[in-house]
Amino acid sequence: SQRVFSGVQPTGNLHLGNYLGAIKRFVELQEGYDCIYCVVDMHAITVWQDPVELKKSIREVAAAFLAAGVDGSKQIVFNQSQVPQHAELAWVLNCVARLGWLNRMTQFKEKAGKDRENASVGLYAYPNLMAADILVYRATHVPVGEDQKQHLELARDIAQKFNNDFATSIAANGLPEKFFPQPQPLIAGPATRVMSLRDGAKKMSKSDPSDASRINLTDSADQIANKIRRAKTDPLPLPESLDGLKERPEADNLIGIYAALADTDAQGVIDEFGGGQFSQFKQALVDLTVAKLGPINAEMTRLVADPGHIDRVLGDGAARAEAIAAETMTAVKDIVGFVRR
Ligand code: ATP
Ligand code: MG
Repeated sequence: SQRVFSGVQPTGNLHLGNYLGAIKRFVELQEGYDCIYCVVDMHAITVWQDPVELKKSIREVAAAFLAAGVDGSKQIVFNQSQVPQHAELAWVLNCVARLGWLNRMTQFKEKAGKDRENASVGLYAYPNLMAADILVYRATHVPVGEDQKQHLELARDIAQKFNNDFATSIAANGLPEKFFPQPQPLIAGPATRVMSLRDGAKKMSKSDPSDASRINLTDSADQIANKIRRAKTDPLPLPESLDGLKERPEADNLIGIYAALADTDAQGVIDEFGGGQFSQFKQALVDLTVAKLGPINAEMTRLVADPGHIDRVLGDGAARAEAIAAETMTAVKDIVGFVRR
């Protein structure tokens, strides 16, 4: 069977990269898969979060899923900390994953920065919790942005090592040889890595101190217009072909954003705007972005005004998620050799 799992951290400032790289894909995938979409609050606390803000952000991410078009009654929408099996399986996977594997994770190096001695242990072990998030549902497909590719590869390695280390026990318990399936990353389309509007070499990120670097899902039409008009570009007009676009990261980024919002590809954008001036293209990009994000923003505002409703969606999702996760965890305990209650 095919099952999609993915998560977004409630770390504030949901942005266009989160939408194009993840949330928009979540909506598309619900047509073909059973989907589990998680607000990963336990990941968020790997760096300090203000508790009052965290609660707000959890509901805001849930609202963004729903506002973008995820159907919370058909799919499972919940927050991670309500389903204890994530943490439970993460511990077992901490004991499967190797230090050497985690030492290679580039996101830890970036997020820990220079003061690595002072990073939380949780930030280091984060990829193991992410593997648990996916594997506890035995999910087969994981839509993420390009930046999560390395963590997905680690999850695959962990799944395989678990299956190998416990092969005899898996068989003795009458369970399938590939107890944990290999989760496939779904990283596709023209905006798998949306870059900062201020720096074509940096990914658009929630944590960038410059608000002008990103388009937030909560930005007004005026804010969107200002940020896109001020977005960094080179002095040349838009290219007339895809050749050399990779050497023009800012142009490549804006073309990718337009393509993703318009459901076309970079070639489609070049067919329409190639050879033209950026000032003109930017105006078209403003109009398109406002047209696509405006209704989502309005619906998010409506939803967050009724936290009781969001909390019911999350609670209902958690109950359905836990039913699946508990079954996996029971099997994992048998496989590992724990004595169950
Ligand atoms: P943080 O800085 O707190 O890590 P983030 O912007 O990276 O925030 P996450 O919650 O870590 O957001 O990621 C949620 C999803 O959005 C993931 O699938 C991730 O790959 C995707 N994503 C994040 N940034 C981008 C981006 N710039 N372009 C495309 N996808 C992105
Ligand atoms: Mg991230």
